Amino acid sequence: MTVNLLGLDGPALKAFCAGLGEKPYRARQLMRWIHHAGADDFGVMTDISKPLRERFSRSAVIAAPRVLADSTAADGTRKWLLDVGTGNAIETVFIPESNRGTLCVSSQAGCALECSFCSTGRQGFNRNLTVDEIVGQLWLASRALRSRDAATPGAPQERPISNVVMMGMGEPLANFDNVAAALRLMLDDCAYGLSRRRVTVSTSGLVPAIDRLREECPVALAVSLHAPDDRLRDELVPINRKYPLKDLLAACVRYLDKAPRDFVTFEYVMLAGVNDGLQQARALAKLLRRMPCKINLIPFNPFPDSGYARSDVETVARFREILMHEGYVTTIRKTRGDDIDAACGQLAGRVQDRTRRTQRRLVRFAPAPAESIQGAR
Ligand code: SAH
Ligand code: SF4
Repeated sequence: MTVNLLGLDGPALKAFCAGLGEKPYRARQLMRWIHHAGADDFGVMTDISKPLRERFSRSAVIAAPRVLADSTAADGTRKWLLDVGTGNAIETVFIPESNRGTLCVSSQAGCALECSFCSTGRQGFNRNLTVDEIVGQLWLASRALRSRDAATPGAPQERPISNVVMMGMGEPLANFDNVAAALRLMLDDCAYGLSRRRVTVSTSGLVPAIDRLREECPVALAVSLHAPDDRLRDELVPINRKYPLKDLLAACVRYLDKAPRDFVTFEYVMLAGVNDGLQQARALAKLLRRMPCKINLIPFNPFPDSGYARSDVETVARFREILMHEGYVTTIRKTRGDDIDAACGQLAGRVQDRTRRTQRRLVRFAPAPAESIQGAR
């Protein structure tokens, strides 16, 4: 059976080498070729003997998901739409900023948690992504960005991706084992060598899995809060009925013991007339009292028949002022990639609708027209 080496973290790659009677250092060699150099062909691995390269190629492949579309917005945001088989598409978004480059990575095709304002939730759950499909997103993006930079005279030579956020499609902590293996590769010096502080898992609040992440692979944590009380959160983020705010916030406090950062980020999507009232800002400030945290207000990304509208700019500014006045560092997420539907879940949803309509025949992607769908999460 051939194995896809993109899905093997350090221990798994060592086990693969041991299976072929090879020493552990071979695993590190392979890892550097695959993840540092972006190799997908054993032939280029010149510090490995030819007979061994041939043995590797008989038992393994290095294969990322197929790129269905690759578009770059006017602001430099770049989005890949990837085929993960049986009509499922996932998305990966690169967001360049002056001091960092962030890759937004998907963890599942669809999502089972059905948050009421989320386009991915609306698509339902298809399946967990495998480790190679998760890591393949980073591998593909690093390769594409490196070759772009190499082609641009004077472009910075350092690695273009400095941060990863698990904020694409899906709930990362509902695919724990695969996400944890992918995180280990992101952190491994022989692979992507990212610092724990620069890798963020965003969760809607799976309390036992937050505890597990704390034990097994503590990275920066973002929690999708979106409401200041259980009544409203039950409606917006239904997993709250299972893990209510009190339990969720207690898990956040426990997480801070081991977290690489000394705060948790709370995400709060601003939905007009639903959770953006001034009383709600005060209630949120009260709820988070004594919690070391930052709050990130996210402009809602509309999608067809969502039933919600984006809060206006003044309302968001007032909401922020109240939180700042109460002592919370509060940021407003900048919308990016407006012209390419860069908000995660939206493009794939659209392609999947089309795919269904054409009896799951994969249609060639044509860039969507510019419209008011905005923002890369
Ligand atoms: N499942 C995880 C991570 C993926 S979603 C989670 O829920 O945290 C990443 C972020 O985008 C979450 O904060 C989510 O609530 C938010 N989000 C989902 N749909 C959105 C929309 N239509 N507009 C703005 N943010 C949205
Ligand atoms: Fe799933 Fe996150 Fe969307 Fe909720 S917001 S449905 S957890 S992807």
